[in-house]
Amino acid sequence: MRSLWNDDEATQYPDDLGLRVYTSRLLGRDKSLVLHGGGNTSVKLRQKNLFGEDEDVLYVKGSGWDLETIEVQGFSPVRLDHVQKLASLDALPDPEMVNQLQSNMLRASAPAPSVETILHGCLPYKYVDHTHADAVLAISDTAQGERLIREVYGELCVVIPYLMPGFDLAKYCAREFPRQKTGRTVGMVLLNHGIFSFGATARESYERMIQLVSAAEAFLRGRGAWPISFPPAQSAAVEPLAQAQLRRRISDAAGVAMVLGTCTSERTLGYARHPRIGQISQQGPATPDHVIRTKRTPMLGADVDGYAREYQRYFARHATAAPEKKTMLDPAPRVVIDPAFGLAAAGRSAKDARIVEEIYAHTMDVILGAEALGGFQALPPGDIFDVEYWDLEQAKLRKSGKPAEFAGETVLVTGAASGIGKATVASFLARGACVVGLDLNPAIVELHARPDFLGLRCDVTDERALDGALRDAVLRYGGIDMLVLNAGIFAASRKISELGADEWRRIMRVNLDANQALMRLCHPYLKLAPHGGRVVVIGSKNVPAPGPGAAAYSASKAALTQLARVAALEWGADRIRVNTLHPDAVFDTGIWTSEVLEQRARHYGLTVEQYKTKNILRTEVTSRDIAELATAMCSSLFSKTTGSQLPVDGGNERVI
Ligand SMILES: [Zn+2]
Repeated sequence: MRSLWNDDEATQYPDDLGLRVYTSRLLGRDKSLVLHGGGNTSVKLRQKNLFGEDEDVLYVKGSGWDLETIEVQGFSPVRLDHVQKLASLDALPDPEMVNQLQSNMLRASAPAPSVETILHGCLPYKYVDHTHADAVLAISDTAQGERLIREVYGELCVVIPYLMPGFDLAKYCAREFPRQKTGRTVGMVLLNHGIFSFGATARESYERMIQLVSAAEAFLRGRGAWPISFPPAQSAAVEPLAQAQLRRRISDAAGVAMVLGTCTSERTLGYARHPRIGQISQQGPATPDHVIRTKRTPMLGADVDGYAREYQRYFARHATAAPEKKTMLDPAPRVVIDPAFGLAAAGRSAKDARIVEEIYAHTMDVILGAEALGGFQALPPGDIFDVEYWDLEQAKLRKSGKPAEFAGETVLVTGAASGIGKATVASFLARGACVVGLDLNPAIVELHARPDFLGLRCDVTDERALDGALRDAVLRYGGIDMLVLNAGIFAASRKISELGADEWRRIMRVNLDANQALMRLCHPYLKLAPHGGRVVVIGSKNVPAPGPGAAAYSASKAALTQLARVAALEWGADRIRVNTLHPDAVFDTGIWTSEVLEQRARHYGLTVEQYKTKNILRTEVTSRDIAELATAMCSSLFSKTTGSQLPVDGGNERVI
């Protein structure tokens, strides 16, 4: 493991707290040290208060912050003497601990201090760094863990047996650390949990972390256990429909729509086909706090009901032993391991699913490393249960607000790089959906850089390309719940007597044939949507009120509308709703340049402004208006509506 310390970078962080931010970020940058909110750091500073008196303040990572991106505001300033005094109490219930820490902060708006604050306060060093390093866990999570850890570190680290994080652990360390430490001590290992390093400067504490973890890696390497070698795997045969069925069953078990990302790689396949996968994967997480994301064990194979029943038994077994009443979390798996496709990760959002996938990628390293040392051994289920159902976690759960409207669902939008399609993408993203955008324009790929957006360059008239896009979409998110048929072309005005067969066919191919193909290909996925499938067709005012010169366009949109109506009839029994919007005069799209607008306005003897609002309500209709309505049509507001056609045109006499 290499130190990432860089003198040039470090000079941008001028003071002791700034350097605490800097080296925290260095730790966060290496995923084999900490993952997604895991680990924590602190610095003890002497400061003058309002009255000019000296005060010792512990700045400790606040909850909700990630080390990789932490800022000064992410550290909670807590009165150090109070924190240290808390450790002298015989007992301190978790809610009171949280209350004590929060009411002894020096900045009211600071985040809640880490649950490991008291432990940081009791370690007699200015800087304290704590990680859940893979290499340390690979050694610790074995039957001989304690002996091996002592062999690696000797006097360098104090070794503490596993205790639940929080007050009891802090109290134990406050007592044991001074007893065990020697002149050579630079760190502390919490067995089956992680490692601490300390120093007088940010750099010293950070570099010691790197040295300690490097020592663990060297030890593993010496035993042929590092870097991790994965058993070779033959190529996979991943079937998108099977993944969508799996995602549906997982969503049903969870009681809500879930995202399921499939991760097929040499690593995941090799792991899934490990001869002892049944034993090694079913023991527990690499470090207890991963349980919040991954659940205690992955599901092996596809028996979701069996997994859920086993989870209910696990809950019942341990909840009765708990001092307070526990509320069971949903019993659906978060990690799925299957020799057919490798690994799949489930979450309420694309981001959650990706976090699960990343955590499990490191769990595989730890497990296989430990296996090479003689055998992975996780903590007993009861210890994991205590963290999974920790009061503080349960409280967070009770407080967590309403989920986003389309959380866990995926929509596919065609023509998504500009105009109505682009606005529709934004509208769905804002309501928590995963969005797959298709467009001929390569800009679609980079329209949004976020885990819940997948932009695919695709010619919708090419059925093979559509098939490939659906496959990518389903493997990324687990299904397609909603479809917005927006891609379409509009040709220059031409009378029927001058309309050639080629142009007619070209317009029909894009506006009609492609949509029929896409509907057919999406039907099996829409049918599996946990909350029912939804299709929104972007029609046109030209359907109810055609105009001269647009025969091909009007006929294609009319046929598309009829297609949607028949789909509403045929698919109702599959719980799929199909509705159509008829927009008119949407000028903020790529087709309408200011020159074209001016030309059209002149043609009618109007100003551009008058031309844009040439409707009964005298209002301008924008892409966003159409997008918002398309989104609403997929929401529960329209749950009892199918086969409808709704104008979005500011009011049109001919349509009314
Ligand atoms: Zn920890």
